[in-house]
Amino acid sequence: MKGIAAVYYDGRTPVRQAAELFAVGDEIVARGAFGERRARRGAVDISEPMGRAPRVVRFDDGGSFEVADLDAFRLWLAAAGFGDSPVVRLQTRWSWALASLLGAALLIAAVYFWGLPAFAKLMAPRIPEPVLQAMSKQTLDFLDSKLLTPSRLSEARRAELTEYADRVLGQGRDMPPHRLHFRSSTLGPNAFALPSGDVVVLDQLVELAGNDDEVAGVVAHELGHVAYRHGLRQLLQSSVVSFVVGVYFGDVSSLAASFGALALESRYSREFEHEADAYAAHRLQAAGLGSEPLAAMLERMEQAHAEKGGKTSRWDLLSSHPDTAERVARLRGGR
Ligand SMILES: [Zn+2]
Repeated sequence: MKGIAAVYYDGRTPVRQAAELFAVGDEIVARGAFGERRARRGAVDISEPMGRAPRVVRFDDGGSFEVADLDAFRLWLAAAGFGDSPVVRLQTRWSWALASLLGAALLIAAVYFWGLPAFAKLMAPRIPEPVLQAMSKQTLDFLDSKLLTPSRLSEARRAELTEYADRVLGQGRDMPPHRLHFRSSTLGPNAFALPSGDVVVLDQLVELAGNDDEVAGVVAHELGHVAYRHGLRQLLQSSVVSFVVGVYFGDVSSLAASFGALALESRYSREFEHEADAYAAHRLQAAGLGSEPLAAMLERMEQAHAEKGGKTSRWDLLSSHPDTAERVARLRGGR
């Protein structure tokens, strides 16, 4: 076979010498004014292609040969039976590089938008009850220490509301086990559910409600989130993301810290809100109340929120209920 022109450096002096490389049997043979150098194929290191930079063939005796004619060298390598690795062949074609980059981005997006929610939906019902209870207790303890204060409602009033909600919503088999907790807070009129079925109702919501049916309507909505395990799914999705990010940046300790905040901050998707509304409407209708109490309460909450200036703060639970007008319309339209 033909030789390929190269520049020889002996590895000891900076002298450049013209050389020609040949593949002969099991060896690479270099000939030039310096005579002849031989090396076994296995002992020869050939640099990867890097743009238009010359490629370098290194012998194990320290000598190296620079080849400037890249196209001719590629042909020579192929004829000598070296060939580029498939990865190198793909890398040298930028269109492939771009396509694989795009493919990777699409894959990540698909995992994020479909894979993660599907994974969370699959896993959420498999979280054992004791884990749910422990997680929810910790979250409530955290909130009690930071954001919530004891309810100012009388014990009799709290018992009355609990009994009423139980009576209204307690009929039916697919009701998740639940407990009502009353608290006061500067968070404004709201209620939220923990994955264990513990529903926290703020005094401000009770005060804003036109009647107890409206309170029961909100509790029913929160129980919808519990029944569909929305909070848990959201938490699983976000924690997988924080876990991956944590591992990537080598900081897993922040994961634990973000757990409590995530539980509270979770902004449910529109889909989750509609599911919880439909669940509540079904419950309320079964109790003979119709879905109006929840619709009316949503409007009141929206109005109270707007009067407060409509500011959305990190801890603003109401902001987790988007598109109120649309939801009210749905509830009233019986859809
Ligand atoms: Zn909700």
